[in-house]
Amino acid sequence: MYLSKCKPILHCMTTETKPKLCLNCDKPVKGRTDKKFCDDYCRNNYNNQLKSNTINLVRNINNALGKNRRILEDMFNPGDETVKTTKSKLLQKGFQFKYITQTFTNKKGSTYFYCYDFGYLPLEGDWYLLVKQKEE
Ligand SMILES: [Zn+2]
Repeated sequence: MYLSKCKPILHCMTTETKPKLCLNCDKPVKGRTDKKFCDDYCRNNYNNQLKSNTINLVRNINNALGKNRRILEDMFNPGDETVKTTKSKLLQKGFQFKYITQTFTNKKGSTYFYCYDFGYLPLEGDWYLLVKQKEE
């Protein structure tokens, strides 16, 4: 069986030295140079994977924020306006400082970090002041 002969040599070289790889299965993609996938299966698979990675990422961050809020809330006794605690206590309970929902800087320049309606203000040393957002 004859394979079609490549007439323009240059064309053969450029297509062979730069095989486009399928984003899903890493096999060389045949056909148009702008194709990114072998076929619909590979495209769907790739896109579903991306989507589920995003869903997992969002879910994990939401869970972490919810847990942070719960940890802050648990430090309050009924009637407490504010609570003083330490960084190590918060870490012990699994608090993740990188997850916050918003910040608030008061006129004195102190920045409060919030997880929804509960927040904290870093104090001197290892200490933290926990606050509740007041109803507006
Ligand atoms: Zn593929």
